[in-house]
Amino acid sequence: MPECIFCSIIRGKKPATKVYEDDEVAVIMDIKPITAGHMLVIPKVHRELLTEMDDDSIKAVFSAAKKVGNALKKSKLRCRGINYLLADGAEAGQEVFHAHLHVIPRYRGDGFWLNMPSDYEKEMKPGELEKNAGKIRAAMGK
Ligand SMILES: [Zn+2]
Repeated sequence: MPECIFCSIIRGKKPATKVYEDDEVAVIMDIKPITAGHMLVIPKVHRELLTEMDDDSIKAVFSAAKKVGNALKKSKLRCRGINYLLADGAEAGQEVFHAHLHVIPRYRGDGFWLNMPSDYEKEMKPGELEKNAGKIRAAMGK
């Protein structure tokens, strides 16, 4: 099986434009940016999904995202807001199956957004919310 692209980058076997690196994570520029300055925060330990990562690694990912996010706001790149986006699983839009957090600079008219279902604006009844919350709570100990 060919090595995961992000593991190759972390091992220095594939090129990438690095912005930041520490013991736990590497932050690289996305080669197909949604907006200029779009970065990926990649944990050094290979895990496919956020839900498979250990808590320290998750903390390191978000801590690095905060660092580069602050830098982005102070930089000369266009950035009025930031989306921190993690696609967990193919159905959620994940394309590289090594967990990573997108840091996407945003500004008015940048053309990016997620498509919402047609009934998105409809508020769910409290009873239905409680029923769904109950299903999640019941699964928490599993
Ligand atoms: Zn990997």
